Amino acid sequence: MIEGFETLAIHAGQEADPQTGAVVPPIYAVSTYKQDGVGGLRSGYEYSRSANPTRTALEECLAAIEGGTRGLAFASGLAAEDALLRTVCRPGDHVIIPDDAYGGTYRLFAKVLERWGLHFDPVPLGDLDAVRAAVRPETTKAIWVETPTNPLLNIADIEALASIAHQADARLVVDNTFASPYLQQPLALGADVVIHSTTKYVGGHSDVVGGALVARDRDLGEELAYHQNAMGAIAGPFDAWLTLRGIKTLALRMERHCDNAERVVDLLLSHPRVIEVLYPGLASHPGHEVAAKQMRRFGGMVSFRVAGGEAEAVEICDRAQLFTLGESLGGVESLIEHPGRMTHASAAGSPLEVPSDLVRLSVGIETAGDLLADLTQALES
Ligand SMILES: *Cc1c(COP(=O)(O)O)cnc(C)c1O
Repeated sequence: MIEGFETLAIHAGQEADPQTGAVVPPIYAVSTYKQDGVGGLRSGYEYSRSANPTRTALEECLAAIEGGTRGLAFASGLAAEDALLRTVCRPGDHVIIPDDAYGGTYRLFAKVLERWGLHFDPVPLGDLDAVRAAVRPETTKAIWVETPTNPLLNIADIEALASIAHQADARLVVDNTFASPYLQQPLALGADVVIHSTTKYVGGHSDVVGGALVARDRDLGEELAYHQNAMGAIAGPFDAWLTLRGIKTLALRMERHCDNAERVVDLLLSHPRVIEVLYPGLASHPGHEVAAKQMRRFGGMVSFRVAGGEAEAVEICDRAQLFTLGESLGGVESLIEHPGRMTHASAAGSPLEVPSDLVRLSVGIETAGDLLADLTQALES
């Protein structure tokens, strides 16, 4: 019985090609499939929006590494979110979202789905009473969880939120992008569906945009698959292949991301220009106990605030060299950014606004000493 994470990441959905023995699934760049007589499909393939063998390999692998029954691969994380929400919600329904949700998720609710009659409330998910109070009987269909969050790295208790959701007959959705399935397994903690921006840690090499849904039970998996085909925002075969290639090293990469992030945190904690370090691995972090309970380690994202306010935060981003100034996260290379002016600029004035003295790091897997040297010069020159 194969069940180790690393083994599944390398083998699930990826038996050697029966015709050639190729050990990696080929990129099936094809739209349609020859039928053996009308309706005589070979292995169920008829048209690549409905299914494509490279995408099937990725989808089976995603289901295996998240411990779900069904995985589905989309063109982006937001495409996966849209398909999920329009599967489980109808106009008039209500969803509870984190008060520090990913900006694109917030925009999808506020600017797109609200116009179609979907209501939502941003709530601090660390406050379980606030979550209970925000549930609208009959109409709340989902509680949407991110943990850790972006860029403040807040932690939400997946098990406790699943029980609140299920008491209300709502679904618990977990955006597992920041932790990755290697560090956190939401379905085992009671979540009904996991979403990923596979663009980040799952793909891991900053070379492909993609999204995923993994459902715990078969009925929801079927419904989501129906909508994936009906709505059409699928992952293409080359994107699926790159993502599968990334997943093979996910465990190794996450271990190194965590090792390097811990070194970076130590450096920042001892630095006089840094007034606060946000990292769930710190005992002083308000979510530390919950994070320790539900995560294997604490991830590769680190945020910090500096004494000199916005101007100094921006200067540090500009001076960093090995830490590349850019948006996104989760790739092998280290990135630095100023959330207030970059990823979260659109949140200014909203409940999701972030402190202007904040710097966010996506700590990559380069040599730790080089990363520390670069941060030291960026903080000091
Ligand atoms: C990037 C991201 C998304 C959106 O994914 P895309 O692939 O960019 O569409 C959703 N959630 C989180 C937490 C993200 O970081």
